[in-house]
Amino acid sequence: MTAKRILIVEDERPIRDMIAFGLRRAGYDVREAEDCREARARIADARPDLLLVDWMLPDMSGLELTRALRRSKDTEDIPIIMLTAKAEEQDKVGGLDGGADDYVTKPFSPRELLARIQSVLRRAAPAGGADVVEVEGLKLDDSSHRVSAGDHEVPLGPTEYRLLHFFMTHPERVFTRGQLLDRVWGGNTYVEERTVDVHIRRLRKALEPHALERLVQTVRGAGYRFSTRES
Ligand code: CA
Repeated sequence: MTAKRILIVEDERPIRDMIAFGLRRAGYDVREAEDCREARARIADARPDLLLVDWMLPDMSGLELTRALRRSKDTEDIPIIMLTAKAEEQDKVGGLDGGADDYVTKPFSPRELLARIQSVLRRAAPAGGADVVEVEGLKLDDSSHRVSAGDHEVPLGPTEYRLLHFFMTHPERVFTRGQLLDRVWGGNTYVEERTVDVHIRRLRKALEPHALERLVQTVRGAGYRFSTRES
């Protein structure tokens, strides 16, 4: 198995060195960048399996970088963990809007960071590259466009199908209405954010007879998440 590649985007050298040292020792292939421009060049060189992005960077914020990466087809799926200072913690929800997968607040222990990285990488692992995704008995077969729960077919409209497909392939992550519009509706700016709520409601209704509507969770003040955990 090849080592997972992690790119650290952090302008403070001592912190970057400390993180890099710990991750190399844990067997990761570590790359480093001191600002967003360098980060983009490194990503173009060799696509990382995960990014650690500091919130405060000299050329643009880590949040802006995250947003930019999420907007591009080539980089939208790279997991991102944001590094924040205590004072920036209230901005966490803003960061979730930007599409980060997790947060680690400074100062953190190398052990804590490692645990978060492993958890995010586990979640990001593709489901065998197959066309079939299954979560708690809910099965989506993308080759036949069929969704089933146990032995029962779950009838879905095309938008609900796309929404569910997106959720099932991006579990445990919060998406804002705007992000869902971008990624499920393809950025059609004429669609209002309210539309998302309508389709979420329809999707839940279709899952209700199978007691699976709990998988589609509302995250107050942020958006929606597909999760097997309690909301
Ligand atoms: Ca910094």
